[in-house]
Amino acid sequence: MPYEIVIGLEIHAELNTKSKIFCGCKNEFGGEPNSNCCPVCLGMPGTLPVLNKEAVIYAIKAGLAMNCRISEVSKMDRKNYFYPDMPKAYQVSQYDIPLCYDGYVEIEADGQTKNIGIERIHLEEDAGKLMHDPNGQGTLIDYNRAGVPLIEIVTRPDIRSPKEARVLFENIKSILEYTGVCDCQMQEGSLRADVNLSVRPTGQETLGTRTEMKNLNSFRAVERACEAEAKRQIELLEKGLKVVQETRRWDDSKQESYPMREKEESLDYRFFPEPDLVPIVVDKTLIKNIKASIPELPGARKKRYINELEIPAYDANIITSDMKIADFFEEATKVCSNYKLVSNWLLTDLLRLVKEKGQDVMQKLTAQKFGELMVYYDKGEISQASAKKVLDIVSETGEEPGSLIERLELKVQRDENLVESIVKKVVQDNPKAVSDYKSGKTKAFGFLMGRVMAQLKGNGDPEQIKRLLTRELKSLME
Ligand code: ADP
Ligand code: MG
Ligand code: ZN
Repeated sequence: MPYEIVIGLEIHAELNTKSKIFCGCKNEFGGEPNSNCCPVCLGMPGTLPVLNKEAVIYAIKAGLAMNCRISEVSKMDRKNYFYPDMPKAYQVSQYDIPLCYDGYVEIEADGQTKNIGIERIHLEEDAGKLMHDPNGQGTLIDYNRAGVPLIEIVTRPDIRSPKEARVLFENIKSILEYTGVCDCQMQEGSLRADVNLSVRPTGQETLGTRTEMKNLNSFRAVERACEAEAKRQIELLEKGLKVVQETRRWDDSKQESYPMREKEESLDYRFFPEPDLVPIVVDKTLIKNIKASIPELPGARKKRYINELEIPAYDANIITSDMKIADFFEEATKVCSNYKLVSNWLLTDLLRLVKEKGQDVMQKLTAQKFGELMVYYDKGEISQASAKKVLDIVSETGEEPGSLIERLELKVQRDENLVESIVKKVVQDNPKAVSDYKSGKTKAFGFLMGRVMAQLKGNGDPEQIKRLLTRELKSLME
């Protein structure tokens, strides 16, 4: 490939705090427009902000989970711009001293493991939402989101392909979910990414001119936007044209991007320290306590599943990428220790049910019951078909697998005498099949097995039936 793609992501995540960053208004998605607002988040003159400690804690937690260093002293700054989504005409953010810096996140893409540098994670406030009247009558503003605490995670330009960009975004989402820092409801906009991308001739050291695409809110959109933008830039360079540094808008339905505006310089924002807030001082004990509260992260969990539980890497990746699924798996394996079996059923049958009926299925079913069902199946007490049947019913009704198996008489029948008598009867009642078998038609054996299985209402043990039927037929041929 004569060109190399270079990508850096800026990821905005809304923090899971109860209240907004500088006032006591509820931090909640939805609600009547402008119902979660007060003079502070409406930017009324004369009001004063008070920094929400919980927001600082969440930001530090995210930083530690991404291997960052934490600034013991940082500050908030004003980023000035004039646009009605921000009623103060400035956004309170962090300029030159971010709360977290110099971290990394591990990714695995195209069979390679590498670390993507995290340049900084800073704390800031979200803006309100503008709703442009479709009838062209004007623009409406909802300030419920104004003042919602955000972190911005800025990566180094270490990403080298659209696939890597997607995987990094996925990994960061999992980390934020595992740590509880963000609810990651991408369709509600609580997690969104800006893509910065440039291309350069392979081997060239200096970076090419980049463009930026803002507010992508799905993994697929990030990957596709990168693919299309890389292609567009390479085509320009091939024609001897230049890439213009600009902000572009990605239209995911059309799979195209459009120029939006020339890229602003940080000078344009006239940053200066926020005079209404004191510096943020975090002591070592707080950092230590936050560190101790971080659970096992997806990357570590994945490695443990692969190395200790011998789950295939691909499967371990799917399970750990969603914390709810991973927790469900952990719970179920406390009941049934056949990890591979649990993981196989989880990835095929459970995920199928989740897809069909939504995440609520997991609550109805519970990991405990799922584990119990796996024990029955693992011990060979029920057939695969019965296990699937039980799973479907339990996910609807929440009934105990044990009592359901009893009630529907699904236990595999292995009583040697009983099965033998059924075999004998089937052989007697089907002389045509028996003579076919004798004359070498092997298909007839399958037919007879099917008859025996039917007599046992499908709950026979195929190995046992096969063994007894073979013996019976052999005795007839002697
Ligand atoms: P801003 O976009 O606010 O000006 P930065 O200059 O810090 O901020 O860069 C933002 C993002 O752009 C970072 O993720 C960084 O890795 C990425 N980036 C910077 N230069 C390039 C480049 N030439 N090509 C691709 N990405 C880049
Ligand atoms: Mg930017
Ligand atoms: Zn408020």
